[in-house]
Amino acid sequence: MTNELRFDQLQLDPRIVTAVTEAGYVTATPVQAQAIPALLSGADLMVSSRTGSGKTAAFMLPALHRIATQPSTGRGPRMLVLSPTRELANQITEATKKYGRHLKQVRTVSILGGMPYPVQNRMLAKPYDILVATPGRLIDQMEHGRIDLSQLEMLVLDEADRMLDMGFIEDVERIAAATPATRQTLLFSATMDKEIVRLSRDLLRDPVRIEATNIKESHENIDQRLHYVDDMAHKNRLLAHLLTDVDLNQAIIFTATKRDADVLASDLSGMGHAAAALHGDMHQGARNRTLEGLRRGRFRVLVATDVAARGIDVPGISHVINYDLPKMAEDYVHRIGRTGRAGNKGIAISLASGRDALHLQRIERFTGKPIQVHTIEGFEPKRPFRPSRPAPKGGNRHGKPQGAGGARPAGVGARPRTNAAAPWAKVDKSFQSRKRMGG
Ligand code: ADP
Ligand code: MG
Repeated sequence: MTNELRFDQLQLDPRIVTAVTEAGYVTATPVQAQAIPALLSGADLMVSSRTGSGKTAAFMLPALHRIATQPSTGRGPRMLVLSPTRELANQITEATKKYGRHLKQVRTVSILGGMPYPVQNRMLAKPYDILVATPGRLIDQMEHGRIDLSQLEMLVLDEADRMLDMGFIEDVERIAAATPATRQTLLFSATMDKEIVRLSRDLLRDPVRIEATNIKESHENIDQRLHYVDDMAHKNRLLAHLLTDVDLNQAIIFTATKRDADVLASDLSGMGHAAAALHGDMHQGARNRTLEGLRRGRFRVLVATDVAARGIDVPGISHVINYDLPKMAEDYVHRIGRTGRAGNKGIAISLASGRDALHLQRIERFTGKPIQVHTIEGFEPKRPFRPSRPAPKGGNRHGKPQGAGGARPAGVGARPRTNAAAPWAKVDKSFQSRKRMGG
């Protein structure tokens, strides 16, 4: 704890330091320690750092400092934070209120899809300083002339990679074009691939680059486990068993589809678990209530799809369970980042059958390391897992054996064709037509 930076060493307004101290923060996280001074100096910034590393305060504290200590130049918001999802936007808004609680004059408005227009229009009619928004609804409100970004001093693109994935690139560019060229621009992204770099060239000037932690090497505090399952029945039995773990405080279970999230949540409720579903088809009010219920501990289990779970920050989540593996490898990293928040330990369990071999391979290639295989007595897979992965070039891709429980089952090679037509492959589609959980 020698060269860690305390918040009172960061030249922030004392009221902000008080608020973060009250929030329980003692020292700045690495990304905060680097970003806050750069932002206070007025630089543009490009940050890639792992989820849970404290990026929100990294941009919000210097922004609040500026808004509180420098007079505004006119009407209209001084800061705009763009977020890919409503959940993330809500979390940013809450964090802003927390960090700015002693700055009574700073007002924050959030403009999200799904919110009733009359409510939104009333909020926009009064003066405010900080606008947190999802791109679609913001464009909509701009087109109606209800938002004037001509006085904007700071533009933040949070989770920019996800905004691009979700097809918001044109919206983001249109929004940026409505802001003054003199603005300070910040871009946060888990990855820095070609598209992000291109976007940053368009929107940022001479950015300071911060790579606090390579996302691929992160998550040391998360114990990642892989359980092989023979079929859906086995998967459901194993899941039911995992949920009996007394060390499981709260869990997010990820499913591939909204429908499966609903069905699994209702099955688990039927088994006596305090479970709820969260996905993009739910109304915003219901999504908010569910998240609030999770935060307050009313739910122990949340069954969610990727989009809805993005950015969720609930400290009580001890376990992430991949009931279905994510389609995109990077989503694996985002999913498991829902646990192990703020330095806690977390457990991420992936359930995989032979059909998942390719997904698994992509995930491991992305994270750069194999997930340790675990078995539980009485729940061992009956058939050997024969991944369809081709033998890696240059020998054993995994390098040395992984130690206890970490070695792959022997027999890596071409998966027999018969496996692809396994009987359970057909019933996989509809959970309801399967044997209900718990029999
Ligand atoms: P990210 O955006 O990088 O995923 P968040 O800004 O959501 O991370 O922060 C993750 C969690 O860490 C939040 O619960 C937040 O309250 C907490 N946190 C942020 N900064 C600190 C700090 N300096 N000390 C302790 N906890 C912090
Ligand atoms: Mg964040």
